[in-house]
Amino acid sequence: MFTVSDRSVKLARRLDPSADSSDWSDWRWQCVHAIRDISTFERMLGIRFTSDERKHLEETIAVFPLSITPYYLSLIDPNDFKNDPIFKQSFCSTQELRLSPYDMADPLAEDKDSPVPLVTHRYPDRVLFHISNVCAMYCRHCTRKRKVGDRDHIPSKAEIQKGLDYIKNTPTIRDVLLSGGDPFLLSDDYLDWILTELRKNDHVEVIRIGTRTPVVLPYRITDDLVQMLRKHHPVWINTHFNHPREITKSARTALATLADAGIPLGNQSVLLAGVNDCPRIMKVLVQKLVRNRVRPYYLYQCDLSEGLSHFRTPVGKGIEIIESLIGHTSGFCVPTYVIDAPGGGGKIPIMPNYLISWSTNKVVLRNYEGVITTYKEPDSYESIFCDRNCGDCKLQLNLAGADEQEPIGVEKLLADYNPSIALVPEDTERMSRREE
Ligand SMILES: *Cc1c(COP(=O)(O)O)cnc(C)c1O
Repeated sequence: MFTVSDRSVKLARRLDPSADSSDWSDWRWQCVHAIRDISTFERMLGIRFTSDERKHLEETIAVFPLSITPYYLSLIDPNDFKNDPIFKQSFCSTQELRLSPYDMADPLAEDKDSPVPLVTHRYPDRVLFHISNVCAMYCRHCTRKRKVGDRDHIPSKAEIQKGLDYIKNTPTIRDVLLSGGDPFLLSDDYLDWILTELRKNDHVEVIRIGTRTPVVLPYRITDDLVQMLRKHHPVWINTHFNHPREITKSARTALATLADAGIPLGNQSVLLAGVNDCPRIMKVLVQKLVRNRVRPYYLYQCDLSEGLSHFRTPVGKGIEIIESLIGHTSGFCVPTYVIDAPGGGGKIPIMPNYLISWSTNKVVLRNYEGVITTYKEPDSYESIFCDRNCGDCKLQLNLAGADEQEPIGVEKLLADYNPSIALVPEDTERMSRREE
């Protein structure tokens, strides 16, 4: 399925003198031979750090450990490695130890929003289920950097069962997102067991898997794996390409195998200074993804996790990138740019402004070329007071299929059937005066 180059075999033999091309394309061999120390890294690429550099690098990996798959390392250009996007995502930088006062260990409050171990329940209808604590490669920009290398173990069946029970007993969950770590570092059988258990719940409509293996370990995408996955449809997969250089022949093979099994593919990129903070690079990336049947899903603003300050760009860079995509290329090439709210507020979409002004009669808009245009509002629109009495409504909502949750947030302010007129923080001085 995968073709292995002579250079890869040469690199494999630097790690394991008896290795051949079938070892290189064996995902377990890749994991066992992940590069975890500076000397092996130097030996693989034929480079040398100065003794001063080495001292600082050693200090860095003592805090934030190193692990790079031989495959991903082989994508680094040894002649210009310091500016290499693969190098920057995989090899430690001494800047990681520079903490800024705004850095947080758990900026997204994933641990706080965790009703049972391994589960983060933040949104009404979906949960994040951390079924793996293991990754093939430690991305230097990991949002869960606090945990990297921590307890590199796969949760036991008993631990997973607690999460499964929570999902079973929470019928509002219709979408389960398997995350980690990387779920694809579990064996096929273990994953099959988890998926089978999840599928016993009628309320779980969709299962999603977040994995970076197509990028850092494409050989994990075997025929056996996809044969197992397709038994559990609908299964969606989101992967994590950040730079067009990562879309190699092997990565394309892995993506095609997944897509051919009927798995819809999405991509979540992180905006990273020095890696992909460029409209041209991002346009090439999203177009290449679509060519490989991957829909760009999210572009994340880099989180406020500890050790990531050198990767952060201003939000303006992300808006500039989205400005360069909308209208300029196919609509489904454009990801939603989001900031994952510090404190656990979830993902907040950010866009350039296209709505310039409006009156009761007209809306004034601008397009990607700078054309300013108007849209005439309808003269007659019968706005119906909605009391949520859907049985009497002319719109044919099939009540059996509709959820009956209370509205929350701004949705609640817009709802006719809810008397709220304002959202007010609970603990303001003004409010406490009212209570007195
Ligand atoms: C991102 C995320 C989800 C999924 O969000 P979508 O916008 O549906 O992709 C669910 N739970 C948590 C905690 C998340 O961070």
